[in-house]
Formats: sequence, structure tokens, C-alpha cells
Amino acid sequence: MFKSPRALVLAAVAVLLSATALADPAVVVPASSADALAVMRSGNILWAVGQLLALAIPFGFLVSGLGSRLRATCGRIARGRWFWTLVLFAGAYLGISALITLPLDFYGGFVRAHAHGWSHQTLPQWLVGEGVQLLVRLIAASAFLWIPYLLIKRSPRSWWLYGAVALVPVTFFVLVGLPVWVSPLTTHYKPLDDTQLGSKIHNLAARCGVSSIPVFVGGDDTTVVGLGPTNRIVLQSDLATVETPDQIEFTIGHELKHYVMDDNWKALAIIVALLLTGFLLADRLGQAAIRRFSLRFGFSDLSDAASLPLIALIFTGYWLCVVPLFNAYARHIEHEADRFGLELTHQNHADASIFAHEVQMGAPAEWDGFFLFFRATHPSRGDRIRFANSYAPWEQGLASVYAAECTSASPSPQ
Ligand SMILES: [Zn+2]
Repeated sequence: MFKSPRALVLAAVAVLLSATALADPAVVVPASSADALAVMRSGNILWAVGQLLALAIPFGFLVSGLGSRLRATCGRIARGRWFWTLVLFAGAYLGISALITLPLDFYGGFVRAHAHGWSHQTLPQWLVGEGVQLLVRLIAASAFLWIPYLLIKRSPRSWWLYGAVALVPVTFFVLVGLPVWVSPLTTHYKPLDDTQLGSKIHNLAARCGVSSIPVFVGGDDTTVVGLGPTNRIVLQSDLATVETPDQIEFTIGHELKHYVMDDNWKALAIIVALLLTGFLLADRLGQAAIRRFSLRFGFSDLSDAASLPLIALIFTGYWLCVVPLFNAYARHIEHEADRFGLELTHQNHADASIFAHEVQMGAPAEWDGFFLFFRATHPSRGDRIRFANSYAPWEQGLASVYAAECTSASPSPQ
């Protein structure tokens, strides 16, 4: 049924009242600049080329027989010792892969990053960073790769299950250790020494039942890293200059969601699920490919170190298939962190203006289809601005979604 004119007028007045109850007017979503759209498109192309290379390199190793020849050489150098053959082969494979991708990495990570003012590293600094990353990969491969290969040898039928289970504590260890041992190798972190900001964070955290929260400053990303004992909030080093105190309050509220709701544990659970399914696929598809192409590959058993490119190819292909799902889930988590931050701080205008400002500074307001599907781990800035403009259940005295986790900024008087 249609409502009477009087009811309509009353409804309109109620809407107006609730709108004026918001402290500030809605923030308009600025239009993306032509440059922002061009950068997103060229970034998409770079990303796609990177993924194609990640598929083409192991494919090339397999079909050219280079993999099996390289493994034979490594076997001779290691005098047939199984573990060292695997370590040498993995090292050679990772080293050659890094050399092949170096021009693309150099263009994307140095030339393009400097052209757009994203990076001010000198060439030697950039090269050292690349070297450290390769070194970390080499150490990780040497430390852990023998686990699945030993399992393939011992238990050819169910190695994939044992392998995934065995890598759970390894993944846990990496996630716990990353912020403490790996990240400080390339970025300098220091404890937060801004006492005013420190007490603001402390008060927000206390409202969510967190009595003490480690906060570090460094790098160019504000995020929550670590797991369990190493869980910490990292504030980007220039946060105080790029955000107003109100915006910082919202940003901290957003990050607290990741901390309070154990989002990094959810990440661990997803990694475990991906490992299980990835290993299963590596086994089934790997065995099938070997049965068919063993002559061309130059090896006839998955336990052969030369199968590493085959397993890498399957894992990369699998990852490309699931990355749209992974991104959609990550966007959901980030959207909920925005909701959490708004409920905790009521800084709607400050939240929206963070992203409006980023668009005015040259970031895209909306994702294009390719970016949304393959690359976007966060909602677009336009979506985040629109959400901040419209989400305020406390204005109507409605319950907050995260009322059980934290006490609200200013509880409605009832
Ligand atoms: Zn977040």
C-alpha cells in the first residue's frame, strides 16, 4: 500500500533529521584522474606478464629438458647425496628464475616506482633488497623443501596429506617469525614514541578488552602483522604527516579489527586449506603429467628433484585459479574492518576523507574489472567513501555489529 502524504512528510523529516545528526556532510567521491586509470591499466599488464612468466619459466624447464639436465649436474656436484642434490637444484632453479624475472622486476619495482614517485631507493639499495628476498627464498627452500620430497619417497600415495600437515607448523613459524626476523632485514622499525598517539591507541584497544598492544613505526604500510606472541600493529612511518588525528583514530580502529578478531589466524587457516588442496593437485596432476610426458621431462618419478618446476607450475596455476576467491574474501575482511573502525570511533567523515584525499592525490576511485577480479584485496576507495558516508546505525539507536567486541564511541542514551 502507498503511504499517506502525511506519513511521507514525517518520513522525509525523519530522514533529514537523521542526516543532520551526522556531524559532517557526506564526502563526495572524486573522479579518478586519467593518469590514475592509466597506472592501474599498466599495473594490470605488468601483473599479467609477471604471472605468465611464473607459468612460462617452470614450463620451459620441463619441456626443454633443462630441468633434468640441471638436476643431473647438481647430482654430480653433490656426489649423489639426495638432500644436497635437492638443495643445489632448488637454488639453481630459484636463481635462474630470479635472473629471468630481473628485467621485469627492475622495470616494475625501480623504473616505474621512481617515475611515479613511489620509491626513492637508490639502485644499490634496490639491488640489496632483491638480493635479500632471493636469499630468504633460498634459505626457506633449503630448510623446508626436503620435507615434501622425503614424504613423496616414503609415502608416494598419501604424501600430499602428510606434506600439507607437516607444513602447518612451518607456516605458523614463518608467520610468527616474519615480523621479527625477516621484515627488519629490509625495513627499519622502532617502537612508537609518540606518547599522545600511544595513549589514544591504548584507550581504543582497552575498549575492545585489549590491555596492552605492541605498536611499531616503520615502512610505508599501516597493518597488523605476526601471529600470537609476535602479533603487532605497524604504523607507516609518515602516518602523522599524511593523516589528521581523527583519521589516525579511524585507521587504528580499522587495524584493531584485524588484531581483535584474529584475522591473521584466518589467514593461517586459508593457507593451510590452500596447502592441502595444492599438494593434492600437485600429486594427482603431477603423476598424470609424468605418466604421459616422462620422456620429454627426463624424469619418471615425482620424488625426483627435477619435478620441482612441475610442482611449481601446478601450484602457480592453482593459485591463479583461486586468487579471485581469495581477493573477494580479503575485501570482505577489509570491509568489515572499516565497519569495526567506524563503530569504534564514529569518525565517518575522517574515514571518507582519507580515501577522497588519496583519489585527489592520484589513486583510482574505482577498480576496473581486471583489477577487481585478480588484484583487489581492499574495497575500492569509492566503495569505502560511500560506506563511510552511509553507515551510522548508532544515529538511529540501532545495535552495532561489533557491539559484543568493543564498547562504542558514545553509547546512545537509553
Ligand atoms: Zn585492513
